Amino acid sequence: MTVKTKSANTPARNATARKRAAPAAEPASASPAQAPRHYAVVGAGIAGIACARTLMQAGHHVTVFEKSHAPGGRMATHHTEFGDFDSGTQYFTVRDARFEKALGTAPGRVRPWSANTVRILDEAGRVIASSLPPKEAHWVATPGMNELVKQWAQPLAASGALTLQTQVIRIEPDKLHPYRWQVQTEGPGAASRVYSGFDGVVLAVPSPQAHALLLSSQQGKALMPALSGVSIAPCWTLMLAFPQALQPTLSHLGPQWNAARSTHHRIAWLARESSKPGRSAIERWTVQASPEWSGRHLEDDDERVKAKLLKAFTEVTGIRAAPSHAVVHRWRYAQTTEALGQPCLWDAPSRIGCCGDWCLGHRVEDGFVSGLEMALAVL
Ligand SMILES: Cc1cc2nc3c(=O)[nH]c(=O)nc-3n(C[C@H](O)[C@H](O)[C@H](O)COP(=O)(O)OP(=O)(O)OC[C@H]3O[C@@H](n4cnc5c(N)ncnc54)[C@H](O)[C@@H]3O)c2cc1C
Repeated sequence: MTVKTKSANTPARNATARKRAAPAAEPASASPAQAPRHYAVVGAGIAGIACARTLMQAGHHVTVFEKSHAPGGRMATHHTEFGDFDSGTQYFTVRDARFEKALGTAPGRVRPWSANTVRILDEAGRVIASSLPPKEAHWVATPGMNELVKQWAQPLAASGALTLQTQVIRIEPDKLHPYRWQVQTEGPGAASRVYSGFDGVVLAVPSPQAHALLLSSQQGKALMPALSGVSIAPCWTLMLAFPQALQPTLSHLGPQWNAARSTHHRIAWLARESSKPGRSAIERWTVQASPEWSGRHLEDDDERVKAKLLKAFTEVTGIRAAPSHAVVHRWRYAQTTEALGQPCLWDAPSRIGCCGDWCLGHRVEDGFVSGLEMALAVL
């Protein structure tokens, strides 16, 4: 892989590059099918890591670009002095045999969480339906939700294939190598770099972000109609800690259940983080606003959202104690409401692909399967 600074590109060369169309596929004679290729994977969530690992295991080179400081994506862990919160994914289910097999490679990292206390609540926190029958096991990564992807990303990190805190801002034809791609990135302190020499590019990011990146890069035209058909709803999340509940006479505050689906107009889901396996004991709750409410309040400021969700939390749980820690996080792209309906998108002529949970649904397993299928499509 070639890495060069952005300043090496003169305006004249940039103008020439803009005029160039997407690189055509390399003639077959110049590159036998078995020859190792080099792929850029944008996004180190479960889809991107599943894709990158599969490509690497098939003997290809990969470089994964992740804008955040750690892999995991929406399988996120929020660290605080009172213990960690699963700020995104709460738990996951396992239906696909390939996902099950892959989980077997991370022994001790995944444990069942008996969330069978889940109930449906009305506006005042009254239980209006008894426990949901536990149809399938609920799993969590330990000690925090991001640990699974972190573990799977280790071989990539060890071989220098994982580039963190690096946002891909443009995809363009490689200026030095015909038939290849280069990506412009922004790192810490807005430092710009160009990475070049990629035989293909996979965008393992939420569909609106893939759409925006391709649009601003003026690439991947063939993928745009399919990307436009996908919808993803936002989710405001509130994280609360009540260390006072650790007093000897008080095992925990509030209700007896540990997780609930709620019909409150603001809240869709609540979970007692401290009830998950491998977590610290301090009483902590994660509260997810409903997609409708999150959408209506998407641009509200943090303090306003926090106050409204805290009020709703009190109504639903009856917990009136003041939390020692209360933080909100806005997921602009949280849960797919209209999926693509196929495992991934691969445009063979341009060698640009897109994958992510949104291809198949809204679950962790959908992200894994999509990333895997993306790699198989590339291969
Ligand atoms: C609040 C919430 C609750 C959820 N609850 C559950 C649940 O209980 N069960 C369940 O199964 N699923 C749940 N999900 C969904 C689950 O988190 C996703 O299905 C899964 O994590 C998607 O993985 P992914 O790899 O497709 O995308 P992501 O995890 O979103 O990964 C995309 C990655 O790309 C990075 N990225 C984006 N743009 C760029 C760029 N230009 N350059 C570099 N990097 C970039 C992002 O930082 C991110 O790390 C929940 C999601 C949210 C937000």
